Amino acid sequence: MDDCCTYKSFICEAPANCREIRIHFSYSPYIVGEFRNLISLALFDPLVFRGWVYPFEDGRDLIISSQTASDGFISNPITEGEWNLFVAIPALISEEPCTLTLEVEFVLAGVSDSLAKKLEFQNCLSDKSGWYRGELHTHTVHSDGQWKGAELVEAAKERGLDFLMVTDHNTISGWEDVLTTAKDDILIVPGVEITSFYGHALALGVEHWIDCRIGWEEWTMNDAALAVREERGCFLVAHPLAEGRPYCAGCRWEYPEFDMSLADGIEVWNALWTDVTLNNDQSLLLWEDYRKKGYKLTATSGCDVHDADAWKDGTPYSFVYSETLSRKEIIEGIRDGKVVISSGPWLNIKSAEGVDTKPTIIGDTLIVEKDKLVLVVQYDNVLTESWLVLKKNFQELVRILVVGSGQIEREIPIYETAQITVELRTSDNTLLALTNPVHALVQG
Ligand SMILES: [Zn+2]
Ligand SMILES: [Zn+2]
Repeated sequence: MDDCCTYKSFICEAPANCREIRIHFSYSPYIVGEFRNLISLALFDPLVFRGWVYPFEDGRDLIISSQTASDGFISNPITEGEWNLFVAIPALISEEPCTLTLEVEFVLAGVSDSLAKKLEFQNCLSDKSGWYRGELHTHTVHSDGQWKGAELVEAAKERGLDFLMVTDHNTISGWEDVLTTAKDDILIVPGVEITSFYGHALALGVEHWIDCRIGWEEWTMNDAALAVREERGCFLVAHPLAEGRPYCAGCRWEYPEFDMSLADGIEVWNALWTDVTLNNDQSLLLWEDYRKKGYKLTATSGCDVHDADAWKDGTPYSFVYSETLSRKEIIEGIRDGKVVISSGPWLNIKSAEGVDTKPTIIGDTLIVEKDKLVLVVQYDNVLTESWLVLKKNFQELVRILVVGSGQIEREIPIYETAQITVELRTSDNTLLALTNPVHALVQG
């Protein structure tokens, strides 16, 4: 009671190079009879006022950084020096003691928080579930792309893309331009291409810079992949078998020590399928090999857009099945393997029983009760006669000539477990479309 209508000041020292301050603030009891105790919290950094939360509600943890700030607080860099946590106690009702808990954590940045300005990320653009078409790998003038962010967004809109991932080499400074231009016409998924001496990887759906200095002070590619995971992003190995040195230093993935279980996928189709410098066919085999070994990696595509030449006849898009058109769900769709890659024709897999109800089973694990599975493969927009190739455990089961649109039904024998994929190929074996696997397990 004696503390009612008083202030208390707690000084904390913010170390240098701090990214974020997290404060846990609570007190008990809140409610006393029909009234409540009321304690509020203000914050001052070494120089200026940073906010005040009043009234305070139970169960709220406060976060303040240059990127974000809890309601009542101002987003700006965390300045080194004395921070003042300033408690105001407008009301203490009861005679019984009221206990205040105040915990402060300063989160060090490395140099991970290089943007002082707060960016406005988009919210959900559509709450419809369905297949969304997008590009996972692009560059702007912030790295070696030719387009400004605004030009990249306009080009993507012209192509009718639902989402666009921006992945400049080792920097995120292009996000602001892209986000500002996109408005709500196209979903922007911020990313960065971790561009190391021994391989490239896409960090997608992150909201902060991921430390790209692989090899510096014991920071490894594994650490970078873990950092992406902490941000609930998606880590994809980019163009793993592209020509390396001296043609393209660092472009080939040379991390035998990398823990592939930390990755979410592999870019198996980069730019044109037939581009000999990229070895897409070998990348596809590499991905299949990892899948056979049990790694749950998604096959993805990327045009590695640097200029207006990137998108052309024959280059692929990734279609992601998602519950909504939002960053979070698109990223989840990729992680879950709900991806079809195509340069035009459409492929989808359904189970025969659920053909009218479930939009797709790609990426799903099906528990089957007997030793066979009946699948329906749908195709559409096949412009010239092409081979529809059904694979079980990445071995060809059957190859059927198809054209136009239609569907085929197939009974597939399953012993214990199987991964089913479908490809569409031209007569000279150029890939036109590819599904990620349907995983089937025989019960018991
Ligand atoms: Zn690259
Ligand atoms: Zn790239």
